Amino acid sequence: MGTASFSILTPSKSASAATEEEDPPNPSTSLLSSNTTESSNPPQNPKTKIIFISLFIITCIAIATSIAFAFLFFSSSSHSKTSIPHETSIPPKARSLTKLQHPVVLLISSDGFRFGYQFKTPTPNIHRLIANGTEADLGLIPVFPTLTFPNHYSIATGLYPAYHGIINNHFRHPSTGETFYMGSHDPKWWLGEPIWETVVTHGLKAATYFWPGSEVNKGSWNCSFDLCKHFNGSVPFEERVDSVLGYFDLPSNEIPAFMTLYFEDPDQQGHKVGPDDPEITKAVARIDMMIGRLIDGLEKRGVFEDVTIIMVGDHGMVGTCDKKLIFLEDLAPWIEIPANSVQTYSPVVSIYPPPGFSASDVVAKMMEGLKSGKVENGMNLRVFLKEDLPDRLHYSTSDRIPPIIGLLEEGFKVEQKRSKRKECGGSHGYDNAFFSMRTIFIGHGPQFARGVKVPSFENVQIYNLVTSVLKIQGAPNNGTESFSKSILLPSP
Ligand SMILES: [Zn+2]
Repeated sequence: MGTASFSILTPSKSASAATEEEDPPNPSTSLLSSNTTESSNPPQNPKTKIIFISLFIITCIAIATSIAFAFLFFSSSSHSKTSIPHETSIPPKARSLTKLQHPVVLLISSDGFRFGYQFKTPTPNIHRLIANGTEADLGLIPVFPTLTFPNHYSIATGLYPAYHGIINNHFRHPSTGETFYMGSHDPKWWLGEPIWETVVTHGLKAATYFWPGSEVNKGSWNCSFDLCKHFNGSVPFEERVDSVLGYFDLPSNEIPAFMTLYFEDPDQQGHKVGPDDPEITKAVARIDMMIGRLIDGLEKRGVFEDVTIIMVGDHGMVGTCDKKLIFLEDLAPWIEIPANSVQTYSPVVSIYPPPGFSASDVVAKMMEGLKSGKVENGMNLRVFLKEDLPDRLHYSTSDRIPPIIGLLEEGFKVEQKRSKRKECGGSHGYDNAFFSMRTIFIGHGPQFARGVKVPSFENVQIYNLVTSVLKIQGAPNNGTESFSKSILLPSP
C-alpha cells in the first residue's frame, strides 16, 4: 500500500511538470529550478538544446511510468473491493500477544440468545466485539434437538448429542431405566471429552464459571473448588464477570488458558413471554452491559486484545401459544398413546411404543391420524422411526434416543390432553433448520480477523477452534479439521 500511495502522488506532480514544459512563459518549480529558468528563455546554443531534449525525454519517461503505476493501483484496489473483500496483497497474520504469556480463550454463553436479538436495542459492547472480530454472518447453527444441555455439551465436545450422550435435557436410560436430569453429574451419562478435560490433560489450567457438564469429574478434570463453580442461578451476573476478571490478576503463568462464563438470560425471559417482548429487550441490554463490564475489566488489566473471546448462545427461541397445540388424546381412534410411553412432549416428541405395538406400527397409526384432517393441528407434527429421521439431524445412533421421534412445525407443541390452561410464551428444541433456532457466534482476539463475517456453521466446530487457538491436540469429534484454518488467522 505504501508504494501504491506513493505512485498515485507521482502522476499529478509529473503532469503539472509536463504542462509547465509545454507552456514555457509560465516558470515553475517542477523539475530543476535552474532548468525552468532556462526554459523561460528559448534555447540559444547546441549545449542548451541537448539539455532541453534530455529533460523532455526524462519527463516523457516519468509520465509513462506514472500512468503505469496509477493503472496498477486502481486495478488492484477495485479488485479487492469487488471480489474478495478482505484480501490484501500481504495475507493478515494473527496478532502477537502483548501482555499475556500464553493464549487464553474465554468462552461465553448467553442462553437462548436468538440470532437477531443483537439488533433489538443498542448493544454497543456486543457490537464492539463484532466490529473488531469475526461473526457468523447469519448466526450459529445449533445441533438437534435445539435444547440447552445437548447444545452446550456439543459446544464443549465437538460431538453431536447422539455421540456425547446428552440427547435431551432429561431422558430415561433404555436398559437401566435410570433418569438423566439436568443435575445429573454422574460421568456415565457424559460421553466424549469436553474441552476443559482436554485442556488440563495437556498440562494447562481451565476454569469454568458454569457450563452444563463442567461439574462432572471426568478423566483428568476433577472440578476443583477454586476453578470450577457449581451452578447457582442466584449469583448476580456482575459477580460472575468479576470472578472471571479476577483470574487475570493471577501471576501470568497461573492464568487459566481456558475459561467459561455463562448467563441464563435471555432464555428465562424467552420461555415466559416469547421472543418479541420488551422483557427480552431489557434482558439483551443487560447481557450487553455484562459484556461491557468484562471488556472494561480486561482493558484495565491491559489484556483485552490478548484474550480470545468466543461469545455464543446455545439456541434461539420462537413464540408458542395455546392455539398451536396438538393433543395425543385426539389420536385415540387410531392408537392410544399412554402418558408413560412418552419421554418428552415438546418440542422434541420422543415416544417408546406402548406394550403390544412395534415402533413402526405406532408411527404408521399416528401418521394416519395426523394426516386425516380430523386431528386439530395434526398437519404440524410428523412422526418418524428414529432411523428414518433426516440425516442432517444426526439423531439416531444412540440407544438413549427413543425409537419414535416427532418433529413439530415451528411454534407448535404437543400435550397429552386438553386442559383449560391458556398461555403464550416461547420455546426451543425444534428442528435446527428453523432460522428462529439460530444463535450468535462472535470471535474476538489475536487470531480472529477484524470486522469479518463468515458463513453460518454448526456449533460442533467450536471445540476444534479452541484447541487450535490453544495449540493443543483435541480429541476426535464431529467438527471438521479444516474449519479452524478457514476462520482463524495463521500464526505470525
Ligand atoms: Zn431454554
